[in-house]
Amino acid sequence: MSRLWSRKAAALVPYVPGEQPQDRRYIKLNTNENPYPPSPAVAAALQAFDPAALRLYPDPQSRGLRAALGKEHGVPAENVFVGNGSDEILAFAFQAFFEPSPAGGAVPPEAHVLFPDVTYSFYPVYAALYGIPYRTPPLADDFSVAVEDYLGPCAGVVLPNPNAPTGRALPLAGLARIAAGQPDRVLVVDEAYVDFGAETALPLAASRDNVLVVRTMSKARSLAGLRLGYAIGPRQLIEALERVRDSFNSYTVDRIAQTLAIAALSDPAWFERTRTEVMETRERTARRLRKLGFEVVPSDANFLFAKPPGMGGEALYEALKERGILVRYFRKPRIDGHVRITVGTPEEMDALCVEAARLLGAGG
Ligand SMILES: *Cc1c(COP(=O)(O)O)cnc(C)c1O
Repeated sequence: MSRLWSRKAAALVPYVPGEQPQDRRYIKLNTNENPYPPSPAVAAALQAFDPAALRLYPDPQSRGLRAALGKEHGVPAENVFVGNGSDEILAFAFQAFFEPSPAGGAVPPEAHVLFPDVTYSFYPVYAALYGIPYRTPPLADDFSVAVEDYLGPCAGVVLPNPNAPTGRALPLAGLARIAAGQPDRVLVVDEAYVDFGAETALPLAASRDNVLVVRTMSKARSLAGLRLGYAIGPRQLIEALERVRDSFNSYTVDRIAQTLAIAALSDPAWFERTRTEVMETRERTARRLRKLGFEVVPSDANFLFAKPPGMGGEALYEALKERGILVRYFRKPRIDGHVRITVGTPEEMDALCVEAARLLGAGG
């Protein structure tokens, strides 16, 4: 801490992303990146990109990209918002839809935003950054979301579907009940992993005025390094996001990102093939881990949340790291016995299962 810091900067507890180590080559199964490269159409668009165009600012409205996303999802471009990764859009959503705590005074229960106790750990960080009060209803013992906990008075709801880091998905009917339970509050559905098997809430975003769906190209589109997220929802919610963005940075999505994201959308066959491959590898790996005695949460995402037998999550994480395999471990109540394993290529998952079997003294 420095005497030059604001009280706010000093009080922050920032989000800590998964390691991106540079010290050696790892089999990297810790940040839910896609093991396959983006579509060859992305490589071609990058080759064809004219660096001279970088002299000019990008289109602040990202019209071409929003039109392409609208076409992809069957909605008008004006119902699409794009951002520098979906993390940025989530941060904008906290500011656009939720109120900070009043200075002094106690905060009544209905003034809290709700998200689960075990979920994406960026949500409490945004809430703290913007001074927004929140409550965290506990997931059920099987890590499913208890819909009833989200039906009472509150200031809004944020739910990832599938949830992270558990991989469990909530059926659309549950989200529909939550959205209808609080018609004057916004439900933000974070669909970072939806392409790996869950039901999308896009029909709710199209039919209700209080549902925003947030997506990313980081996971199923293999573009984590590009930083491209988007949101789909009713025009009034999109407009609020635009107001927040335009009070912060007019150019959140650069020219290269707009161009390459459009290229990625132009190749549905690549998208289908790679996401299907990831889902098949996930199911094979889950079966193998269960045979080794792991408790594996059913996953609709590109990762597995698994509890090793007779060994702590942290011990497994450390032992795998020594052997060149990186997974994610969370030192948090309820989940500190688990590790989160990103689904890699079949060869990478094979290496993981072989090492795990050795460590647990079981047959592979
Ligand atoms: C990966 C992830 C994001 C962030 O995606 P970016 O678009 O890369 O910022 C958002 N929400 C959840 C639940 C994620 O796992």
